[in-house]
Amino acid sequence: MKNLFVKLVSVAMIACMGMAIASCGGSKKSGMTIEDGKLIMATNAAFPPYEYYDGDRIVGIDAEIAQAVADRLGLTLEIQDIAFDSIIAGIQAGKYDIGAAGMTVTEDRLQSVNFSSTYATGIQSIIIPEGSEITDIDTLCDGDYIVGVQSGTTGDIYMADELGESRIDRYQTGNDAVLALISGKVDAVVIDDQPAQAFVAANEGLTILETPFAVEDYAMAINKDNEELLAAVNQALDELRADGTIDEIINRYIPAEG
Ligand code: GLN
Repeated sequence: MKNLFVKLVSVAMIACMGMAIASCGGSKKSGMTIEDGKLIMATNAAFPPYEYYDGDRIVGIDAEIAQAVADRLGLTLEIQDIAFDSIIAGIQAGKYDIGAAGMTVTEDRLQSVNFSSTYATGIQSIIIPEGSEITDIDTLCDGDYIVGVQSGTTGDIYMADELGESRIDRYQTGNDAVLALISGKVDAVVIDDQPAQAFVAANEGLTILETPFAVEDYAMAINKDNEELLAAVNQALDELRADGTIDEIINRYIPAEG
């Protein structure tokens, strides 16, 4: 890292020779990405259809959009699968260039990272076992039901606020939360709508309540000090939106209904 910095500073200094010093004013950039030629993406690959394993490969909407962004920027995409609640800290610490994980833009997170323009929408949904007495968000809140959530997600934040800590069970992945629901450890799981549908399709005996709440925007998280990468990612996203690539990727993973 230090060597890279030294290298980049000297490249910048060479580039400045012969030019007016004034044109070199302002802060020196320490490179657009952490490693030359690479775009390192942090995700949590248990969130279909945004990120999940196909064999030993991570695929999904985020993986493909990030790949398309990397291609536009002439970078090689490297995906690292980590806990969802470590993504923002890792970006702040300079371990990953982008976080792409069906991540909702929130005021709180904006204190810690920048977000790209949004490329998808999510809705918080409630998964229950078929035949459950929970019929809507009010019955869920009023009873003494225990809710499973993925740690650090907006579902976690909303439910902890509504129900209090004692009625929340936190899991590392959405899949673990769903397994807890199947084994009766929790009474409901609150998670984004698309993974909710994927989990319900993959497991017998579960259903989604018709009362979704909280519509959210997904975007890529980027270190606050890296304005250059933010601008480059936004530019790439604009182009991918304009040429239909983003719609094509999303429609392939989430076929339009009817
Ligand atoms: N959209 C939710 C959030 O940002 C969940 C994301 C996830 O679990 N990968 O918190």
